[in-house]
Amino acid sequence: MIKFNVSPRVESGLAYIQRAILNNKTSGDGEFTKKCSEWIEKRAVTSKALLTSSCTHSLEMSALLCNIKTGDEVIMPSYTFVSTANAFVMRGAKIIFVDIRPDTMNINEQLIENAVSDKTKAIVPVHYAGVCCEMDTIMKIAEKYSLYVIEDAAQAMMSTYKGVHCGTIGDYGCYSFHETKNFSMGEGGALLIRESENTELAEVIREKGTNRSLFFRGEIDKYTWIARGSSYLPSDMNAAYLWAQLEIADEIIQDRLSSWNRYYYNLEHLQKKGIIELPFVPESCQHNGHIFYIKAQNVKERTDLIQYLKRHDINAVSHYIPLHTSKAGLAFGSFSGEDCYTTKESGRLLRLPLYYGLGEENVDRICDCVYKFYRECCKQQQ
Ligand SMILES: *Cc1c(COP(=O)(O)O)cnc(C)c1O
Repeated sequence: MIKFNVSPRVESGLAYIQRAILNNKTSGDGEFTKKCSEWIEKRAVTSKALLTSSCTHSLEMSALLCNIKTGDEVIMPSYTFVSTANAFVMRGAKIIFVDIRPDTMNINEQLIENAVSDKTKAIVPVHYAGVCCEMDTIMKIAEKYSLYVIEDAAQAMMSTYKGVHCGTIGDYGCYSFHETKNFSMGEGGALLIRESENTELAEVIREKGTNRSLFFRGEIDKYTWIARGSSYLPSDMNAAYLWAQLEIADEIIQDRLSSWNRYYYNLEHLQKKGIIELPFVPESCQHNGHIFYIKAQNVKERTDLIQYLKRHDINAVSHYIPLHTSKAGLAFGSFSGEDCYTTKESGRLLRLPLYYGLGEENVDRICDCVYKFYRECCKQQQ
C-alpha cells in the first residue's frame, strides 16, 4: 500500500529526544524549543517565532492578541480546516466566509472588500497547499479598513510570496507541525509575530497568562498572573524531534518538490486533453510541495478514482468539506455573496500521496494508475 502520508523520519531525532530528557528540561522553552524558534526567525525573517502546541493554538493566541470579542466579524475562506474558524468563534466572533478562486483554491481576494462591514476585525487568509494567497491585495484592504491579518500558514512553512515568507506578511502567522505537515513534532505549531511590541503579550498568553518568560530570562524576580492566557507551550521533547528535521529542511523540501514536479510532468498530458486539472502556482509564489492534487470532472468521478486507486493499493484522499455547509458553520457563520467555486471545486479535488521519501518509482506507479483509470472507466472521454 502506498500511504497517503508518512511523517518525516530523521535518524538524529531519537538522540535529540534523549538529549532533551538528559537536559532535565522536558517541559517548554528548553534547548530545542530555542533552537527551532531561532531557526524559524532567521529563515523566515520575522521579529519573533514562538513554538506552540499546535497551529490551532497559534490561531487561538492570535484571536486573543487581536482582542476578538462577541459580535466581531472575521473574514476567511470556507474551504479550510475547522481550526481556522474555531479559534475566532471561541472568542464570540461571527465568521464571514468568502468564495475561493478555482485556480489556487485560496480566498478570492477580489471578493474580500465586499464582505467587510463596520463589525469586521480581521482577515484570515489560508495558504492552501503551501501556495500563498494574493497578499498585496489583502494587505491593502486590511490597511484601508484597519483590520488585522492573521495568516493561516499551517501548510506554508518555507513557501514565499514575492520572495517573502508566508506567515511573516500579516500581523500574525500560524504554522503547523502536525504529523501530516511538511515538518512535524507530532503535535505542534508556531506563532510568528511581525511587530516586536506584540511579543511580550504573546509570551504571557502562551504561559498561562503569567510573565514567567520574563522571569526565566531573569528580567523580573517573581512571576505572576497578569492577563488572559492558557497552556500553549510545547514540550522540549517534541521540539527535539522537530529540530532533527529543520537541520535538513532544504533536503526535505527539495525531495517533496521533486515528487510534486514529477507528478505534474507525468499528468500534464491528461490536463492538456481536458480530462483532469492540475494545481496552478502563480508566478509570485514559490511553494513548498505540501500537497499535490488533481481535479476530476465531478464528485462522482473523484469518488470512483479514489476507490480505483485504493483497489490498486494507493491511498488518495479528498479534502475539506466547506465549513459554511457544516452544522457549526451554519450556526457561527454566513457566506458573503455567492458560492460559485467553494462547493464545486472542493468536490472535484483529490490529493495524491506526497511525503518526504516517496520516491520516483512510486510517483510513476501512481500516475500510471491514474492513466489506467481514465482508459478503463472513462473511455468516452478519450
Ligand atoms: C493542519 C491545519 C491546521 C491545524 O493545525 P494543527 O497543528 O493540527 O492544529 C489549521 N489550518 C490549516 C489550513 C491546516 O492545514
